[in-house]
Amino acid sequence: MTWLDLPADHPFGVHNLPYGVFSTAGTTPRVGVRVGDDVLDASAVARIGRDAVGVGDGPDLTAAWEQPSLNPFLALGRDAWSAARAWLTEVLTDPVHEERTRPHLVPLAEVTMHLPVEVADYVDFYASEHHASNVGRIFRPDSEPLTPNWKHLPIGYHGRAGTVVVSGTDVVRPTGQRKAPADAAPTFGPSIRLDIEAELGFVVGGATTLGERVDLADADEHLFGVVLLDDWSARDLQAWEYVPLGPFLGKSFATSISAWVVTTDALRAARVPLPGQDPEPLPYLAGDGAYGLDVHLEVDWNGTVVSRPEYREMYWSPAQMLAHLTVNGATVRPGDLFGSGTVSGPEKGSRGCFLELTWSGQEPVTLDDGSTRTFLEDGDTVTLRATAPGPDGTVVGFGECTGTVRPAR
Ligand code: MN
Repeated sequence: MTWLDLPADHPFGVHNLPYGVFSTAGTTPRVGVRVGDDVLDASAVARIGRDAVGVGDGPDLTAAWEQPSLNPFLALGRDAWSAARAWLTEVLTDPVHEERTRPHLVPLAEVTMHLPVEVADYVDFYASEHHASNVGRIFRPDSEPLTPNWKHLPIGYHGRAGTVVVSGTDVVRPTGQRKAPADAAPTFGPSIRLDIEAELGFVVGGATTLGERVDLADADEHLFGVVLLDDWSARDLQAWEYVPLGPFLGKSFATSISAWVVTTDALRAARVPLPGQDPEPLPYLAGDGAYGLDVHLEVDWNGTVVSRPEYREMYWSPAQMLAHLTVNGATVRPGDLFGSGTVSGPEKGSRGCFLELTWSGQEPVTLDDGSTRTFLEDGDTVTLRATAPGPDGTVVGFGECTGTVRPAR
């Protein structure tokens, strides 16, 4: 029930309430909450709420929400996030709050969305068995598809936090070194195998001290929310540089994330068992905290949906990734972000990157306009979208994560 005039099946109903950072003409960026096709100016409502009805015994959310990123709110931790969600739900459902709240709903058409998080540290994992197997077959055809460690730990690498950009930001084609196996020497120039990776990104809050780990059972205390993440990848640069230390310039030029952070609280009805782990992971990665998420993604290439990856196929859970990331005592900071790795399922139509979808360029994709593609061309636009089941038959929307490729400079 809500005083808002929203259909029950709206993907941004009061069961969702994702956070972002927005501004309107002439105002500074601040935290907003998406409700239907509006953005609730969260700090403005919190300020009124403190004076008029109070915010309970929780922290002063006004100060945290007046900021140009979610980081101060992320720093407050799980208890504050829960109190905030309960209070927002009350404000948007109890008619007693309508008159005070309605003036602070801003139509989406009037806002500019900004990067929601000042990304602290960025890690990208590799948690899809189908993706890892396919890439193994393509990059290392003479070896076992999965490396010997793959089923024992969630593999990842540290990426470049400073080049994480918000949905809608153009992506300039990267330039660098590449050497095909048949080439005698490397050459330098714009990437000719520019790709995407459809992923979920997990936004981390709270903090730990150096030397302290996040146990699997406590991971939910730090997993604040989920974004759509496009890990733009220059496969020709990557293939030449990645042995022995992993991805570097082939992935550090841009990573796009959606503007709305869907909270893990909004995704409780989307929790599903993992598809099965064999062998049983070591004890620090085993237990009830390891659950999957039933998120349905789609990959749109210039207006044609070319793939529909299912997140529930992922081998490693977000909680296992966070537990592994910190098991050596590495700290967690508010604003940390980790990507799941490309979400790929067993069928061709559920592969989450073009390297796999076109089998390294050997099987071109035909778009609805009749053109064919293997890798990205200048001017191409890729948009990721996703939904998940919400409570009582509702749908949780993620919005979209989009970017357009611009020519190399
Ligand atoms: Mn990736």
